[in-house]
Amino acid sequence: MTESVIQTEVVVLGGGPGGYTAAFRAADLGKKVVLVERYPVLGGVCLNVGCIPSKALLHMAQLIHELEEFKHFGLNYGAPELDLDKIRTWKESVTNTLTGGLAKLVKQRKITLVQGVGHFASANTLDVQTADGVQTIAFEQAIIAAGSSPTKIPVFPNDDPRLLDSTGALALKSIPKKMLIVGGGIIGLEMATVYHALGAEISVVELMDQIIPGCDKDLITPLFRRIKKQYNAIWLETRVAAIESQADGLKVTFEGKNAPEAQLFDQVLVAVGRQPNGKLIGAELAGVIVDERGFIAVDKQQRTNVAHIFAIGDIVGNPMLAHKAAHEAKVAAEVIAGHKVAFDALTIPSVAYTDPEVAWMGLTENYAKEHNIAYEKGAFPWAASGRSLSVARNEGVTKILSDPVTGRILGAGIVGTNAGELIAEAVLALEMGADMHDIGLSIHPHPTLSETFAFAAEMITGSITDLVVKK
Ligand code: NAD
Repeated sequence: MTESVIQTEVVVLGGGPGGYTAAFRAADLGKKVVLVERYPVLGGVCLNVGCIPSKALLHMAQLIHELEEFKHFGLNYGAPELDLDKIRTWKESVTNTLTGGLAKLVKQRKITLVQGVGHFASANTLDVQTADGVQTIAFEQAIIAAGSSPTKIPVFPNDDPRLLDSTGALALKSIPKKMLIVGGGIIGLEMATVYHALGAEISVVELMDQIIPGCDKDLITPLFRRIKKQYNAIWLETRVAAIESQADGLKVTFEGKNAPEAQLFDQVLVAVGRQPNGKLIGAELAGVIVDERGFIAVDKQQRTNVAHIFAIGDIVGNPMLAHKAAHEAKVAAEVIAGHKVAFDALTIPSVAYTDPEVAWMGLTENYAKEHNIAYEKGAFPWAASGRSLSVARNEGVTKILSDPVTGRILGAGIVGTNAGELIAEAVLALEMGADMHDIGLSIHPHPTLSETFAFAAEMITGSITDLVVKK
């Protein structure tokens, strides 16, 4: 059944953190908005099969590890008993609370929600394949927020249910005895943390010479040291040559510098990156240029090559992060509402919610060295932090990079418990143009992990008293 055409000022394609933020902001600025989402719930990958359920499971992993470690200090609850059904129900209750909240916000804002798969039919119409037929939406302006999908390796047996992507891993159907993680990036290592805590023997295979490639080595080392002890193996500079489905498991052969013998795994998680969904939305019929990888180029106002069509989030480029998408969403919606704004954030922070967490923002030492950028460095070891020791952890480091001339912060990186929360102060400092004195002289509560940020700044100004710094 084809319904009558819906006329709207703004259509948003995709209901993830980018799409729903764009729709909400545009509606709040007085626009008539239609939001198109293929699934029955809003929230996209992040809320349903990404950031949020993984954080729920990572919290459980942290509890298990902390209780295990505190056995040495006189607190013994015995071995954890896992009830996978209850764990799954709890994880789902977290996402359901959030998706239910989004549905209410859509109603409160009087946004029209159309459920189905949207394809552009022209530069001003979008056809949505709904359960009841094709619904055409005629729009004045559009925001594409159609996201990305996990990269599949075509030669792997992708139909074998023991070969998982991040969505399959988060479904937590069973806990394998032996699990291989292909890709030592953020998804691979976060899921490794969860499955290790739930009892799987973990092996990681990573193409590059470091886990989380691109991140400064000194931030990765404490994480690498810890998980190397916990996991069966981390094979760097190694790739999977083939995976063969066998009755008793997936037989994996490896190649590369540190390649082990071929071996059987009960489950394999493939986490080798994500692909933008640019080629799946009929963009060419709207005249929007999509590159060969599926990305859509935009300007600083999130405009595509077609002036009234905008794009945001994973589909416009890396990093594929929800907080980047939401920020871009507000820019696009505000530009559509006639505001003179542009994407001019100085940094987009990155966080790996591993144990310990790794977080960084602004300039990295890798980048500074490659591009001959001068910097001063202050790195405060958490072994000298009372708060860190009181949670029985000492491997963390907080480092700041500053401009040698102005003293202003250029970048920061933190590895340690709660690094993901702590990095926000560094982002604010960068956006506000804070220098090392501003940070060191801001009174931080004691004893907290947040103090380490001020201490790192004091390592640069020379006013640190908690350590002796060589002149
Ligand atoms: P990624 O790019 O972060 O990591 C993929 C890893 O796989 C890299 O280390 C790469 O070198 C390695 N690799 C690639 N091909 C390989 C091969 N054939 N064999 C072995 N290793 C191989 O990608 P991801 O972890 O899949 O995450 C996808 C996206 O989702 C990223 O953009 C990431 O930022 C985002 N994400 C972010 C978070 C977070 O912010 N906490 C969490 C999950 C995902």
